[in-house]
Order: sequence, then structure tokens, then C-alpha cells
Amino acid sequence: MSIVGSHDSGGGSGRHQPPADWPSRSRLVRAVILLVAVAAGSYVVAAFTAARVPDGSISFAQVGAGTAVFVVLAASGSWLLVLQPLARGFAAAAHDLSTRSRAIEDRLRARENDARLQHALEISEDQSAVLRIAQQALQVMPGVTISQLLLADDPDTEIRHVVTTGDIPPEARCMIKRPSDCPTVRWGQGMVYEDAMALSACPGLGGQIDPGCAAACTPIIVAGRGTGMMRSLGTTGDPDLYRTLQSLSTHANRIGTRLAVIRSVAASEMKASTDPLTGLANRRTLDLRLSALLGQQESFALAIVDVDHFKKINDTHGHDTGDRALKMLASVLQGSVRRDDLVCRFGGEEFVLILPGTDIGRAAEVVEQVRAELPRAAAKAGLPAVTVSAGIVDQGFGPDAEGILRAADELLYQAKRDGRDRVVVAQAA
Ligand code: GH3
Ligand code: MG
Ligand code: MG
Repeated sequence: MSIVGSHDSGGGSGRHQPPADWPSRSRLVRAVILLVAVAAGSYVVAAFTAARVPDGSISFAQVGAGTAVFVVLAASGSWLLVLQPLARGFAAAAHDLSTRSRAIEDRLRARENDARLQHALEISEDQSAVLRIAQQALQVMPGVTISQLLLADDPDTEIRHVVTTGDIPPEARCMIKRPSDCPTVRWGQGMVYEDAMALSACPGLGGQIDPGCAAACTPIIVAGRGTGMMRSLGTTGDPDLYRTLQSLSTHANRIGTRLAVIRSVAASEMKASTDPLTGLANRRTLDLRLSALLGQQESFALAIVDVDHFKKINDTHGHDTGDRALKMLASVLQGSVRRDDLVCRFGGEEFVLILPGTDIGRAAEVVEQVRAELPRAAAKAGLPAVTVSAGIVDQGFGPDAEGILRAADELLYQAKRDGRDRVVVAQAA
């Protein structure tokens, strides 16, 4: 197990050097060849001298042979002593240059990818957009075939495998259940696990059966809390895994920062649009929804539901019991409508239902269903009996939201006047 930064990932210029004993062996060979050449040269000179002695003249054959030997000796001597080392030096320099320029290109590409990622994240509006961008970023990461992004809502909640690139076998998926169980999240730092089978390997690699498998993992910190991680799989001993870790860590930083902003905006929007006691939509959300429906001229039914003699429940059983009764009613209301319907706490013990594409008759059935469910739900929650009255209208009852709500309120008070625990529906407008 190694920690990011402890490894030289700067391009490995030393990796392509010849073996350590290469220069001394080469020098020895050259020295031997030089000695042989000098000996041969001396021999030829001696032969010349010997050939000249008897009559003082030199034949053409002797001159030719002497010149040929000299040329051969000079050529091989300069090849061995000057040209070959020069050629090797040039080749090594060229190799070194190309390695360095590849490393610079890699760095530039990584910087370019990072700038694109940052820009894309800046204009992403929700978590799913961030995850889509993360998937694209992982897909184009050089040298990475299998990677995953895991995310939870909090360090102690269940982690979800939200992004996967490459064909990952089930046993190679991260086995961590919560971010707080992940070593890289706990350390707050990226790590390379060189060998999935090592004793010190991450428990998240527990299902990994390939002994040559290694992983680079980095935490995703959202608003100071480790809530996820990114990981890439590779092979043991591959130095590129450290470069991958650096890219992963940069991506994870950017993603964590953006998620923090998006989650914080979503939380304040939620707070501004939700009733804290019941978790239902509040009056602000109701107004927005009503004006949207009216603006699009869509049909809908609207019901105002009010708890009967709620003050008495408070007075007899206490305010806390009153609160629990409101929560129970909220839950029954929410459980009785469709996903696109809106249940809102209008104020105090009054609730409003908006049922798009629904007529008054169908809306009355829904509220009757709520009334029928209340005794069971109250008994189950250990609450006193709770009944409600309701008034129901549709979009035709007002030119605007105010008019529609007023019409529904009048019907509600008619239900109260008629004895409570009932539904009064509007006659056609
Ligand atoms: P009616 O049948 O005519 O509607 O009678 P009611 O007692 O339900 O209506 P009233 O308007 O007289 O009293 C409503 C009570 O609801 C008064 C108020 O204290 C109580 N209330 C409003 N909001 C809350 C709340 O959040 N929690 C609790 N426990 N009580 C609340
Ligand atoms: Mg009431
Ligand atoms: Mg009321």
C-alpha cells in the first residue's frame, strides 16, 4: 500500500538507461580493440621498414597494402572511439527528449481535461448532471479501463455505485458498504493498493481474486465530509496507476466541491418549500404549483381539509399529541394521492390537496378514502380519534388561485356548519 506523493511519477527518465555495468564493459572491449589495432599498425610499419631495406625502394603493392590497412584501422578506430559513442549519445538524448515531451503532452492533456471538467461542473444544476459529467471524465481518462464512482448522502449512510466505466466483473466491484468504512475516506487521502491479495490491501478489494490486481482510490469530500470515493483498477507494478491516482484525486476534488454547492442549494430550497413539522410542501410551494397549473390552463381539483375540533385535542391531550396527530394526518394524506399530486400544509390544522387532471367527483373519493383511513391510522399511532371536514372545487371556480381557494374554504365552512366529519363538493361552476 502506498500513499499518493510517495512515488516518483515524473516520467521516469531513469527507466530507459542501459544496465549499470554497460559503460565499463564497453570501455574494456574498445581498449582491447585499440591495442590490437596499434599492434597491427606497428606490425605493418615494421613490415614496411623491413621491405624497404634491401634495395631502398617501395613497390606499389606495398603502398596499396599499407594504405588499405591504414584506412581500415583509421575507420574502425574512429567508429569505435568517436562515432559509435556519439551515435549512442544522440539516440539516448533523442529517447530522453521524446519521453519528456510525452510527459509534457500528458500533463497538458490532463490540464485541458481538468479545465473542461471544471467548466462542465460549474454549469451542472443537479446531482445527476454532476454524475453524468463524472462518467464522461472517467471514460476519457488515459490508460484507465475500469473505474467506479461511489456516493452516499452522508459518511454513515449506505453507499451507491453511481458511475461505472468499463466491463467490471461483480467480484471486482468495491465491497465497501458506507463511506466511513473506506480507508481512503478515513485518511482523507488518495491511495494506491499495489496488490489486492496483500494483507494491507483495502477491505473493499475483498472480493478480488486476481493476484495481479491493483487499485487507485481517492475520497470524495462533500462540504468537509467524506461521502464517496472514486477508484480505478489496474495491474500490480504499473507505475501509471500513480498518475491515474493524481487525475482521480483532481476529479474527485472538483466533483466534491460541486456536489457540496448543489446539495446546499437543494437543502435551502427544500427548507424554503417544506413544512418542518410534517415534511409536506408549504404554502409557497402551493402558490407556485397553482399559478403554474393556471398558467398552463390545466384542469385540476382542489380540496381543503381541516381537522375537526383540533383545539380540543390539544387542550385534552397536550400540544405534542396534537403535533403527532398532524403528522399522522399528513402521512395518510400523502399515502392517498398519486406521485404528481400535491399535498400541502396550508397552515395550522388545514391542508390542501391539488390533484391535476382530476375532476371533483374523483377528488371526493380520494378525501373519503382519507376519512375512512383515519380511525385505523390514529389507533395504530396511539392517538385519540381524529376526524376531518373538506371542501372541494376545481379550476373553474376562480380566475385566479385566490378565488379558487376562497371557494373551497366556503365549502369547508359549510361542512363545519353541517356537523363536521364530512366532505362538501362544489356544484358545477
Ligand atoms: P374546527 O372544527 O372549527 O376547525 O375547530 P378547531 O378547534 O379545529 O379550530 P380552531 O381554529 O378553533 O383551532 C385550531 C387549533 O389548532 C388552534 C391552534 O392552537 C392549533 N394548532 C395550530 N397549529 C398547530 C400545530 O402546529 N401544532 C399543534 N399541536 N396545534 C396547532
Ligand atoms: Mg379545525
Ligand atoms: Mg382551521
